[in-house]
Amino acid sequence: MTSERRTLVWFRGKDLRLTDHAPLRDALREGEVVPLFVLDPYFFAPARARELPHRMQFLLESLAGLHEEVARLGSQLLLAEGKSVDVVPALAERFRATRVVAQRWTEPFGRERDRRVAAALRVPFELFDGETLVGPEKVRNGSGQPFSVFTPFARALRRDLPEVQPLPAPKRLPPLPADVRLQSAALPTLSSLGIAHNPRLQGGGERAARQRLKDFVKAVAAQYDAHRDRMDLPGTSRLSADLKFGTLCVRTVWSAVSELERDAPSAINTYTNELLWREFTHATLWDRPHLLERPFRADFDGFPWTEDEAGWQAWVEGKTGYPVVDAAARQLLAEGFVHNRARMIAASFLTKHQLIHYRRGEAHYMKYLTDGDWAQNNAGWQWSAGCGTDAQPYFRVFNPTLQGEKFDPNGDYVRRWVPELAGVPAKLIHRPAEAPSKALTAAGVELGKTYPTPIVDHALARDRFLKVADSYLKAQPARTR
Ligand SMILES: Cc1cc2nc3c(=O)[nH]c(=O)nc-3n(C[C@H](O)[C@H](O)[C@H](O)COP(=O)(O)OP(=O)(O)OC[C@H]3O[C@@H](n4cnc5c(N)ncnc54)[C@H](O)[C@@H]3O)c2cc1C
Repeated sequence: MTSERRTLVWFRGKDLRLTDHAPLRDALREGEVVPLFVLDPYFFAPARARELPHRMQFLLESLAGLHEEVARLGSQLLLAEGKSVDVVPALAERFRATRVVAQRWTEPFGRERDRRVAAALRVPFELFDGETLVGPEKVRNGSGQPFSVFTPFARALRRDLPEVQPLPAPKRLPPLPADVRLQSAALPTLSSLGIAHNPRLQGGGERAARQRLKDFVKAVAAQYDAHRDRMDLPGTSRLSADLKFGTLCVRTVWSAVSELERDAPSAINTYTNELLWREFTHATLWDRPHLLERPFRADFDGFPWTEDEAGWQAWVEGKTGYPVVDAAARQLLAEGFVHNRARMIAASFLTKHQLIHYRRGEAHYMKYLTDGDWAQNNAGWQWSAGCGTDAQPYFRVFNPTLQGEKFDPNGDYVRRWVPELAGVPAKLIHRPAEAPSKALTAAGVELGKTYPTPIVDHALARDRFLKVADSYLKAQPARTR
């Protein structure tokens, strides 16, 4: 006999934790709990998984951690293979679940999957917020419309935000009901998916995430506003992959940093503003799912991006001759991470200096970023190209040399990722093409041999972009979508 209430708690890759997990807490209040994770071929088919090697590594480590923790607390995380839209309704029926609960996703793919699962289930399917601080459809302007500018969005969200109180982790979990039996699939491994382990990635799992949060709050958060733009310093939280995979809930992060608010109000305000940028991108994608295919500024439709295979390869491999752009490219491939300032410089360079379509850069970042997230990545690329919501105006073109000198003043970020320039003195490291040949020789650099000459001249590239953009955009009616 089953008890009256039996909840299937469906964990699904953006909630790989037990602390502050609203669907699980709700299930525990009600009776029997069956924790489930579905190995959907959409992500776990080897050919697909190999397209996202860094995210897969982080996900597998986090999933293994969750599996272990659920067992330690007295239950079992069931692993089922197959398409979620088939597996979840079938298991709900087989286990005689009285409902299914999960954390809501903001992405179009997840929303469509959930719509189909709900339609196939014979029991209620309840979705809880937790990917974002507030539901992505909740923050509205005075006329009930979604915001397209960040500042009023953030103001409205802060104004209406109730006190953020993370839910504690359960101390124990009820054992699986005796009649719930499943030949649980094996936890996939990187080698079973044909992916090489990358030892330079951040470690996944809730435990590592909580330690990162603790370290950030203890040693870094109070100087966040002063250091966050410095590419050479560990001045940011490095919690983006944890937020992406839900090894930390954003409520937990918000609440932990808020404890420092009295002592470091400006730093904490700056940090929580970044969390609100994250909210803004998710809310924007919720209301405008087509942004994954098209620019927010419709006058950018048909923009004359160029095909430049050699330029693309140079950008991907970190061989443009602009040290900060090259450092960003190499950090991405090596570490699955790029500092935010370097992301902005690199994305601006690809779209404006090289006139290459932002969607190509966006896809490359989605492939290699461990924190690769559809909402945030798309927003970052559209912002950089000048065609997104509240974007950098298209006519602002970053000068990568000056950006490097300002935000990597000693050149240590470049030295780390472009070691062939390691011996160049700080005042020349961001402009090797202008350095006296004596200085280059002393540093062991031979331009065009050990390090490339710039693939484009900054001033010429800037003029070219402005001419192309001005003449194209002025001929289009200014429209947003
Ligand atoms: C071209 C481009 C692509 C990007 N792609 C992604 C992506 O795929 N995934 C991703 O998480 N972030 C992305 N960002 C935003 C940002 O670069 C990263 O969130 C940040 O670098 C992560 O490092 P951190 O955790 O140390 O950030 P912190 O500075 O410590 O910020 C704290 C958190 O706030 C959020 N956040 C910070 N900056 C932004 C921002 N500009 N927009 C939205 N959320 C933000 C992140 O969740 C981050 O973890 C992108 C930015 C650009 C310009």
